Amino acid sequence: MDMGLRGKTALVCAASKGLGKACAMALAREGVNVTITARGVDVLEATAAEIRAATGARVVTVVGDITTEAGRAAALAATPDIDILVNNAGGPPPGDFRDWERDDWIKAVDANMLTPIFLIKAVVDGMIARKFGRIVNITSASVKSPIAALGMSNGARAGLTGFVAGLARQVARHNVTINGLLPGPFLTDRLRGTSAAMAGKTGRSLDDEIAFRMKDTPTGRAGDPAEFGDACVFLCAASSSYIVGQNLLLDGGAFNSMLG
Ligand code: NAP
Repeated sequence: MDMGLRGKTALVCAASKGLGKACAMALAREGVNVTITARGVDVLEATAAEIRAATGARVVTVVGDITTEAGRAAALAATPDIDILVNNAGGPPPGDFRDWERDDWIKAVDANMLTPIFLIKAVVDGMIARKFGRIVNITSASVKSPIAALGMSNGARAGLTGFVAGLARQVARHNVTINGLLPGPFLTDRLRGTSAAMAGKTGRSLDDEIAFRMKDTPTGRAGDPAEFGDACVFLCAASSSYIVGQNLLLDGGAFNSMLG
């Protein structure tokens, strides 16, 4: 299927590893020129080289913290006329809300709600003028099925989801879509990290710990980031302009429901 994306330009935030990287790789395979960002330069450059070698796409790198104004300005400056924006950043830490002070909440809201909103604000009018835009927000399955220990994530990401639900319907007539991709457990460094911490407590090996965590899910496994990247491409496809304000859950069926 031709996704109709050849020659488009994408900014994929927080994309040196994991889900962001998978989105950038999948878009690049469709002939999209991508800008990828991350705070750490070495992994970012290695990822850029990997994407170039695999796809032949033009890959621009921007080192910086996307949750800061300077980080966002640098990413935007390096990427004129953005057609596709994939919003992503690290997730807030788990914990007990009794321990979280105002600054902790502000950090979470900055990263997982306000950063995507300010990036959307920066690009959406250009997309409207050019009559094409695809915005994908990487959030979390916790938006649909809250994870108690991830209270800051539940709250900040729900705020973003609520905001874009309205905006998506204001811009859709200009062939600009805004949708959410909601990852359940995907085999990224983040999942490996949380599983390693758990393995330290249970005495299981890392692989056994991951297998244990996934054994009761319908697919019985964690997601492959490449599957996530392909879903991102699908939402960005030229023919996906009728998919508006949706939240696509990729969790291997873990959320038990008749209606998705
Ligand atoms: P990951 O494998 O740890 O990768 C995170 C990527 O984001 C890295 O490239 C990292 O590079 C970059 N990054 C993090 N914070 C950044 C910042 N402030 N500015 C710029 N780049 C930043 O994580 P992941 O699993 O792909 O997760 C991506 C998002 O999905 C997170 O918000 C996570 O909470 C959410 N999520 C993941 C899962 C899962 O199972 N994987 C499930 C639900 C939700 P640097 O560290 O060098 O900046």
